[in-house]
Amino acid sequence: MSEEYDVIVIGAGPAGYHAAIRCSQLGLRTACIDKSVDMNGAPAYGGTCLNWGCIPSKALLDASQKFEDAKRFEDIGITIADLQVDLSAMMNHKNDVVASLTSGIAGLFKGNGVVDLPGHGRLVKDCMVEYVPADASEPEILVAENVILAPGSVPVDISVAPVDSNLIEDSTGALNFTAVPPRLGVIGAGVIGLELGSVWNRLGSNVIVLEALEEFLPMADRRIARDSLRIFQSQGLDIRLDTKVIGSKVGSSTVVVDYEGKNGTESIEVDKLVVAVGRRPLVSNLFSEDSGVSLDEDGFISVDENCRTKAQNVFAIGDAVRGPMLAHKGMEEGIMVAEQIAGGQPTVAYDRIPSVIYTNPEIAWVGSTEQELAENSVEFNVGTFPFAASGRALAANENQGMVKVLADAKNDRIVGVHVLGPHASELIAQAVIAMEFDASSEDLALTMFAHPTLGEAIHEAVLGISGQAIHMVNRKSGSSK
Ligand code: FAD
Ligand code: AMP
Repeated sequence: MSEEYDVIVIGAGPAGYHAAIRCSQLGLRTACIDKSVDMNGAPAYGGTCLNWGCIPSKALLDASQKFEDAKRFEDIGITIADLQVDLSAMMNHKNDVVASLTSGIAGLFKGNGVVDLPGHGRLVKDCMVEYVPADASEPEILVAENVILAPGSVPVDISVAPVDSNLIEDSTGALNFTAVPPRLGVIGAGVIGLELGSVWNRLGSNVIVLEALEEFLPMADRRIARDSLRIFQSQGLDIRLDTKVIGSKVGSSTVVVDYEGKNGTESIEVDKLVVAVGRRPLVSNLFSEDSGVSLDEDGFISVDENCRTKAQNVFAIGDAVRGPMLAHKGMEEGIMVAEQIAGGQPTVAYDRIPSVIYTNPEIAWVGSTEQELAENSVEFNVGTFPFAASGRALAANENQGMVKVLADAKNDRIVGVHVLGPHASELIAQAVIAMEFDASSEDLALTMFAHPTLGEAIHEAVLGISGQAIHMVNRKSGSSK
């Protein structure tokens, strides 16, 4: 036996590092074990999100969007003679951002007194953890009062398109192409497929997205999903719904993808294929059978609403447990568990987790959709406002999309906000805050918004609920479908 801790966290992704830092802030002696390494084999904290998820994808989304914007600079009176992409410099920028943030987590661990342990961790029993150090030194058994499992997730593989050649890649591979593929196939029109498809479409690939479902973005508001599909198609993304990939053949430099679609079985030939069909929890070699931890029927670690597993003093958080696989959901769970261990009784507002798709325009929402409210027989009022009527959006030459606010008809509480438009990812925070404080649509209607801002679109949408919007002709309340 060696070191004893109040808390050992396994996994230093957003869920784990938030938990570890807050535990330490609360005076608990805390260690965090993580096995991720960077391109040079050095420990790299931050998990999927910082290394090959949220951050590198946003670096490429932002860079490629700037390129796309620059192509339209003439519209606003700026001429660029010879616009070029230097992909290797763009990738260097992305890698620099990742390196700076992952080393930042190491600094935060140090500054907060979290003992960082690079290597593999496995819960055995009675809160004991087998630690295999990354430097190949002898494995140790560590003992803790509490253990937090935050192992995250990995991409789902499908046998019809195995990621075992350099022509078929998962999301990590698609963040590291060394050349722009002339023809790119993407399997899955979920969040990751759309974001990666957008990056390469902007950089010059002909992108075909193959999606098995008939409905586009079934989790989003219907109107927003419909409008966004039209916009993405107009950008050149060839999104084929009701199209299930059933096989692939890798050649010397291309991949032939077979799919079943509306016209029966067909094929496309692409230069690269990205498999973006979802993620699954990473639970292999994480806990022993006698640890008391169990999995649910979907393969996630079983937890209650407080993230407690079935083993005493063992918690699990983040992508490895039920709920949306989002960094901020895991972060909140990490904070909640840390505070609970320290004796508090915090909870996570699972019904107010914002969702964002970082396409252009962005899509963001919080709370219920119209279809969910209708399914639950909740009567609601709806207010919408198009960015085409927003002075700020027009001034910025970014006027696609709309804001849609849903308020409970009985008590006027805001129950859902949906944004398709510029900076939707930032705008949605206003809605989350309003809902966090149980705001009614009238509360927001009576709030002053700076002019000219994109946020005014939210104001106008709530004003529209009571027929009082100023910059559009009000219509009767009801569904906006
Ligand atoms: P992870 O981030 O996966 O971290 C888990 C860590 O634990 C990893 O470092 C892993 O190596 C380590 N680990 C696992 N098992 C062990 C073990 N036994 N011993 C030691 N270490 C272990 N989410 C958003 O909210 N916004 C976005 O914009 C967004 N974009 C994304 C883009 C892409 C391309 C991808 C792939 C994902 C994106 N996500 C986004 C999802 C987000 O990355 C995850 O929800 C988030 O990283 C989950 O956090 P986590 O801490 O649960 O796990
Ligand atoms: P998400 O889970 O949001 O990342 O989205 C993944 C998407 O991939 C889902 O919409 C699935 O319907 C889709 N998908 C899964 N398997 C296939 C397949 N074989 N062919 C086409 N689409 C698929």
